[in-house]
Amino acid sequence: MAGTPAAGEVGWPSASASVVGVIGDPVRHSLSPTLHNAAFRALGLDWVSVAFPVAPGALDAALTGARAMGVRGLSVTMPFKEAAAAQMDRTSATASRLGAVNCVVVEADGLVGHNTDGQGFLGSLRRGAGFDPSGRRCLVVGAGGAARAVVLALADAGASEVVVVGRTPDRAAEAATMAGDLGRVGTAGDAAAADLVVNATPAGMAATLGAGELPPVDPALLGPGQLAVDLVYVPRPTRWLELASDRGASVLDGLGMLVHQAAAQIELWTGQAGPVEAMWHAVADAQDPRAAAGD
Ligand code: NDP
Repeated sequence: MAGTPAAGEVGWPSASASVVGVIGDPVRHSLSPTLHNAAFRALGLDWVSVAFPVAPGALDAALTGARAMGVRGLSVTMPFKEAAAAQMDRTSATASRLGAVNCVVVEADGLVGHNTDGQGFLGSLRRGAGFDPSGRRCLVVGAGGAARAVVLALADAGASEVVVVGRTPDRAAEAATMAGDLGRVGTAGDAAAADLVVNATPAGMAATLGAGELPPVDPALLGPGQLAVDLVYVPRPTRWLELASDRGASVLDGLGMLVHQAAAQIELWTGQAGPVEAMWHAVADAQDPRAAAGD
């Protein structure tokens, strides 16, 4: 906007800056404000993103407060993605199917919920590995929120099948339904025949578990011609990716998904395409090893 400082310039954020934020618990470790502010800087916008810690049980008050104070949008992370979906005035088709919202746009007539995780995953696959899921056999390990988003995105992108491997049978079956007729529950052994194998569990994440813990798909099943993706991005790469790479598989860590899902949020809020390269550089060298959440 003419006459106002762009993000990063002296005087930014001005008194008329547009405010967005990330809500979660815990959320102080979140890389989202760094990603968003890098985008605003690259786009020359007087917008600012901050972290809003929201106590369990205070989501309703936080959303009402955001509207009252003219906050333009919110990124939503653990543990509020599902609860936020129930509080929206409208939701996108993807957020409705997932029953989870990771991005809120505050419109004049209400709160609109979106979910950019799947779009972020597909963007990362394309940019980071040149991989197109169309016609490919895919296997997803895990059955939580991230796994469901990935299963739905792969099916929508034309995968020939999406196999879900989960430790809790009911949750695995439910996640597989995201892919409709293309989805089924499988076993770890199915990985040998897959073109793409995705770890969507926190196994191997530095913050919560031993960084050496492996997801329940033996990397020895993987090899040349296969792509192994870990949604975990601390550490980069995970032990599982290192072992898959040693076996000759191509590998991709979770940072790209984080960047691309945030870029999609920037577009929803500002109407301008998220500047992926600038956002990538803002976080690629500045990761907090304590980071616990996916976003
Ligand atoms: P959830 O808690 O919703 O789901 C976790 C899933 O992993 C569940 O299915 C759970 O099993 C399974 N699981 C947990 N621990 C283990 C284990 N030790 N061995 C086998 N399975 C396990 O988490 P999310 O789906 O939100 O996140 C999953 C991972 O993806 C996290 O590491 C998160 O950081 C990452 N992520 C990364 C993003 C990115 O942008 N790169 C975006 C979102 C998430 P059960 O069904 O039995 O509970």
